[in-house]
Amino acid sequence: MSSSPLNIGIVGAGIGGLATAIALARAGAKVTVLESAAELGEIGAGIQMTPNVSVLLQRWGVDKEIGENLVRFEELNMRRKDGTRVGHTKIATLENTLNRPWWVVHRAHLHEGLVKVAERLGVTLLVNAAVTGLEYSKTQAVTLATRTRGSFVFDFVVGADGINSITRKTLFPDVAPEPPTTNCAYRALVPYDQIRKDPVAREIIEKKTMEVWMSDNAYIITYPICAGTQFNLVLSHHRPEKLRATQHDVPIHELHNEYKDFDPRIKRIVDMIDSTSRWPLMVTGPLESWSSPRKNVVLTGDAAHSMVNHMAQGAATAMEDGAFLGRCIAQVVQGKLRLDEAVTIYEKERMPKAFAKQQVSFLNGAIWHLPEGPAQRARDAVMAPELQGQYYVKSSNLYGDPKTVLDVYGYDAEKHAETVLAAHFNGGREPVDAAGIAKSLEDEYMGWFQAEKAKL
Ligand SMILES: Cc1cc2nc3c(=O)[nH]c(=O)nc-3n(C[C@H](O)[C@H](O)[C@H](O)COP(=O)(O)OP(=O)(O)OC[C@H]3O[C@@H](n4cnc5c(N)ncnc54)[C@H](O)[C@@H]3O)c2cc1C
Repeated sequence: MSSSPLNIGIVGAGIGGLATAIALARAGAKVTVLESAAELGEIGAGIQMTPNVSVLLQRWGVDKEIGENLVRFEELNMRRKDGTRVGHTKIATLENTLNRPWWVVHRAHLHEGLVKVAERLGVTLLVNAAVTGLEYSKTQAVTLATRTRGSFVFDFVVGADGINSITRKTLFPDVAPEPPTTNCAYRALVPYDQIRKDPVAREIIEKKTMEVWMSDNAYIITYPICAGTQFNLVLSHHRPEKLRATQHDVPIHELHNEYKDFDPRIKRIVDMIDSTSRWPLMVTGPLESWSSPRKNVVLTGDAAHSMVNHMAQGAATAMEDGAFLGRCIAQVVQGKLRLDEAVTIYEKERMPKAFAKQQVSFLNGAIWHLPEGPAQRARDAVMAPELQGQYYVKSSNLYGDPKTVLDVYGYDAEKHAETVLAAHFNGGREPVDAAGIAKSLEDEYMGWFQAEKAKL
């Protein structure tokens, strides 16, 4: 086994690639990221950083870099198309229980924060470095050819190159991401100052909230970003045909028309949008493997498991992949695990997690898109206890449903890796303490309120 730092190449400096770079650099590896774009950056839209990844941003110090541009919000309101409130999640309650924030942020601010931390950890970020080919089968080393920067040789390569991943296409040429339905999304930003001037619309922004208007085959979700100066909208709708590529400069009347029957307050804000693009919702896999036969190339993020956006988990799942992989690679760098063992553990544990995220994302889309009728009325009726602040153990509002909150937002990819690695080094079973309790369960059932007690 090697005891020297691994020389790792990452293809793609998106949110997933950068998170992976941070995790691998923290593991003690030498990390180079090859990005095809001429400049580092992200699209001009918001993104949710749910508690399963806010915990990583905090641990890695990315939150400090982003500062007030990581926006907290007070509550989530679930509404019918006409604006009637049917469900409610008090975000502070959820955050206090999980002991982690739920942030919303402009993608550019998140990206900048990740870049700063990656660079501080010694990661080399190369732009204008489009990878055009991978050779990974002749020897254990992997050679990446780039369009303009020559070739690079690495001990291990991570494909974080998104939906059209060349890494995945090389490993698995038969896999093709597909939109499962005709569902797609507009994204848009409206300045808060503009909304404040509107006597009808301004009621929506009296508090910092996340709002969802659910409708037949469409919905709108909104939240504040940019230190609370920009109102971010994601607008779901269906088209006559499946969409496979982003449509830029969509005629704006198409967007205005799509939501013409919605709550007049949000309709006024939709009418303030003067330009937009339409994004496809592409799903990749589930794949049978994420790696090369020698386990010297592995996939992460959208390249491996792109999903519909209805649970806001695509980038979050990419970041979790990186965090988990980082913990496994730390053991390789320390000479305690072989690379192929580390990659095998990563695939075995992360593939079902990503599949579960794809599933819950589909399910939330099905719930939010219900047409008016008995199923929709049942959906709204079971959210009612939330409005009255009553005790409940299950909700059709998956963003606040106790099970989803614990399974999705309560997950910690690094702790998961530590648990699995501890079991691996202990003959397959997680070690227990003198009282017979495994650390992961102690953390799950007692750790959370011990953390609360520490604040008292
Ligand atoms: C409407 C909508 C809303 C969403 N909202 C959320 C949300 O709130 N929260 C959330 O977690 N997720 C959300 N997502 C999903 C999220 O945007 C993606 O899952 C995430 O960006 C994927 O990250 P990634 O790093 O895997 O891939 P990408 O972001 O696609 O990054 C891939 C990178 O690789 C580079 N690259 C590609 N090919 C090459 C090559 N050959 N050589 C070198 N570099 C290359 C690209 O330029 C890019 O920088 C949303 C998606 C949509 C459509």
